[in-house]
Amino acid sequence: MFTSISGRSVLVTGGTKGIGKGIAAGFAAEGANVVIAGRDREAGERAAAELGRGGRTVSFVQADVSAPGSCAAAVAAAQERHGGLDIVCCNAGIFPAATLAEMTPEQLEEVLATNLKGTFFVVQAAIPALQRSGRGRVILTSSITGPITGYSGWSHYGASKAGQLGFMRSAALELARSGITVNAIMPGNIITEGLADLGAEYLRSMEASIPLGRLGSIEDIASAALFLASDQAGYITGQTLVIDGGQTVPESLEAMG
Ligand code: NAP
Repeated sequence: MFTSISGRSVLVTGGTKGIGKGIAAGFAAEGANVVIAGRDREAGERAAAELGRGGRTVSFVQADVSAPGSCAAAVAAAQERHGGLDIVCCNAGIFPAATLAEMTPEQLEEVLATNLKGTFFVVQAAIPALQRSGRGRVILTSSITGPITGYSGWSHYGASKAGQLGFMRSAALELARSGITVNAIMPGNIITEGLADLGAEYLRSMEASIPLGRLGSIEDIASAALFLASDQAGYITGQTLVIDGGQTVPESLEAMG
């Protein structure tokens, strides 16, 4: 149905765990050459080895997306290893909870620096390579939390995720003439290491509020990333795709019937 993306060079930040690891697996399964980035070297090497099984091309680069130099090094590594860079998935993110009354400036800065500024730094570093590609793709992992919904304790997180969409629309315009598209995926509640850390009670209450009756999988998100990276999605830019099992649709639990 879609033109093969085999041989394309892909960088996935936060590709060592959770959603990013699922996205990396999806691209690698389609024959793309994938570099995954994260801070934890041991976890990253382990994930790359796992994802590389069966002759797939996946390697790890240590990077902290909150540091511009580190983002530039990750982009350079992907280019050196695979002769260029075609697809960048800005997925690295953190979601520590803190109420407004208790949030420190340091906690606010950590979330904005990772989730929002990290998106800027990675895309900025990748622009020359994506321009050379001629069919560059930027895919952001935003969220329903912030752009559509709210959740007590996550005002900084919600602002960072809504901020990514503000970034996306202007970036899409700046990069359009270079044939680069910039789009965002907005996941609902997806089973990942990070989500599991929020506890069983959180997971149970989320599941109960999802019309399709289950939490999302990393494969659900990977499919959307693959679509947005495809040649067939080449006329889509500056857009969002909600993948939440319908969670943002009902007005109340009763509305689900
Ligand atoms: P996760 O399981 O905790 O994985 C987060 C990934 O990001 C890890 O690979 C982590 O590796 C990396 N990371 C964190 N801080 C980083 C930094 N400063 N520099 C580089 N890498 C960093 O989280 P997840 O649930 O998969 O979430 C991934 C993304 O999806 C986030 O942007 C999140 O906001 C978004 N999202 C998730 C859900 C969900 O339900 N899971 C819903 C909506 C949106 P290191 O720790 O080794 O750096």
